[in-house]
Amino acid sequence: MADISTADDITYSFVIPVHNEEEVLGELVGELGALRNRLDGTSEVIFVDDGSADDSWSILTTLADLDPSISLVRLSRNFGHQIAVTAGLEHSTGECAVIMDADLQDPPQTVLEMSRRWREGYDVVFGVRTDRQQDTRFKRVTAAGFYRCLNALSDVDIPAQVGDFRLIDRAVIDAIAEMPERNRYVRGMFAWLGFRQIGVEYARPERAAGTTSYGLTKMLRLANDGVIGYSKAPIRSITVLGAGLTAVSAAAGAAALVAKTAGLARPPTAMRSAGVAGVQLVALGLIGEYVARIFDESTDRPLYVTQEVRRRLPRQQSHETDPAIAGVERGHDNVRPIRTRQGAALVDTHR
Ligand code: UDP
Ligand code: MG
Repeated sequence: MADISTADDITYSFVIPVHNEEEVLGELVGELGALRNRLDGTSEVIFVDDGSADDSWSILTTLADLDPSISLVRLSRNFGHQIAVTAGLEHSTGECAVIMDADLQDPPQTVLEMSRRWREGYDVVFGVRTDRQQDTRFKRVTAAGFYRCLNALSDVDIPAQVGDFRLIDRAVIDAIAEMPERNRYVRGMFAWLGFRQIGVEYARPERAAGTTSYGLTKMLRLANDGVIGYSKAPIRSITVLGAGLTAVSAAAGAAALVAKTAGLARPPTAMRSAGVAGVQLVALGLIGEYVARIFDESTDRPLYVTQEVRRRLPRQQSHETDPAIAGVERGHDNVRPIRTRQGAALVDTHR
């Protein structure tokens, strides 16, 4: 395994969330070691123990004692996979990070291909599952349905068959850190961020050992975070339904008037009175629009994310003297610079 002298040397940070994975950790570290030897740079591993109730933590401490390139973050309780990933990214120091599950369902050899794509210049290389035969039928059917709905509804394009297995550049890690939202749907956040993204395909094997921590409740919560966090369609559907009911009611009312003068049967009362419910729903939808705006503000996402800045003129402000800086800007002040991988090249052209 590569010797690590200073944190600056690290190319790859493996971020691995762990929740009750005692049965698989040994095998994982073995496979990971083989992979790390084949990578074209130094690497570190950050295990985030997400409140495991089994022996995971003591196994992890033993592993970290044996290998100084293994770091551990222990959360005080189970915060959930998405937050564990965030915590791991925040502790990573590499030029890029690889997010992978502990159960070897994200095949380590795929990381070699991801690394190649990253070297080609992609900022996010995500794994695309080509074969989910090993997942339960229930999981496959619900996942397929969910992504179809989510993409129909959502404001950003969240690719289907993509989990959290991915390699991301430092610029993206820093940008993610600038997104302080509490309901973290990491896949949606990556989709929202943009940058140069590409997928690499892999067949998803069965869990190497142990059992899944993602029960139905957690899956539903994840789905809920995805839809509510990245779509206004649910709120808009209330307004549309309300407007529809009001229209039906107005038509029925008009038909009733005509029927009365012509002596014909009148439309059912329920149809005519649907307008009451309709108006209420439209009102709810309108309130929802305001709530949605409050939501947008409260997520405090940056207004935009800059991928790269090319500038030959000298800067006036003293706090940004480096032209090779891409900034995530929130509002007009509070600019936190992000150094991109292209940074060095940009400095060279400037000099
Ligand atoms: N995980 C976690 N916290 C949780 C649930 C899961 O850190 O509350 C980790 C788990 O240890 C694994 C990854 O997230 O490394 C994916 O979980 P799992 O394999 O149970 O999900 P599945 O692959 O069945 O979707
Ligand atoms: Mg799994």
